[in-house]
Amino acid sequence: MRIPTPLVDLHTHTIASDHAEGSWEEMAQAAFEKGLQAFAVTEHGPSIFRSPHIGYFANLSRIAPKDLPVVMLYGVEDDLIDTDGKTALPDEVKAQLDIVLLGTHTFGWVRNVLLSDIKKGLYKAMENPNIDVISHPVNPWYPMDYVEIAKVALDTDTVLEFNLSKIDFQETEWRKFLGVAAEYKLPIIISSDSHSTDRIGFDNLPYEWLEGIEPSQIMNRDLPTVVDRFKIRRPEVIARADELRKEAK
Ligand SMILES: [Zn+2]
Ligand SMILES: [Zn+2]
Repeated sequence: MRIPTPLVDLHTHTIASDHAEGSWEEMAQAAFEKGLQAFAVTEHGPSIFRSPHIGYFANLSRIAPKDLPVVMLYGVEDDLIDTDGKTALPDEVKAQLDIVLLGTHTFGWVRNVLLSDIKKGLYKAMENPNIDVISHPVNPWYPMDYVEIAKVALDTDTVLEFNLSKIDFQETEWRKFLGVAAEYKLPIIISSDSHSTDRIGFDNLPYEWLEGIEPSQIMNRDLPTVVDRFKIRRPEVIARADELRKEAK
């Protein structure tokens, strides 16, 4: 059975990231045209070169436009900064956001440390209730043990990501990861990690790689599911999710 195409893209970068293009308004319009119910802006955490300042994340709800054609969720793709699971964005700021992804990038703290230190820090960070998702557990920089991280994800109630911007030349690894996700019934999200308006959404989703994954495992399948799973508290987002719930009946 083919999984339905997800309706929320929880991992995108915009012009605020410096290395991406597309304003909030342009990304929202592109998301609308692709039939999405919502998308999240998740710029890199402040430890990454030329990413936004802490003040950007702390003030997102004040500065973001309100009259967009789809719901825009406020997020971050934070970065690990030590083996104790500390991340660049302070916990009190993470707690204010709708969605917190944690990645580890070769251009961040991980570039100078051992793989064992990356794993130690990452698994510790997954215990942090402010961290919702680990972005791209399959990546071109350091090899993860998918069974090991799956077990930590289940223990800590953390979601793992199938990242569509990193599937080229990585089919074998992603299929291994998705096989483990199917076996352990892991909650996952599928996201574009788009850095421009044309890449938002799920145009390049290889459905056949997800064989064995139940639709109910996909936590970004629609906005109501996202609101429930990630305990989103903003009244306007909850109201939109309620509307969609009614429409779906
Ligand atoms: Zn990333
Ligand atoms: Zn990203």
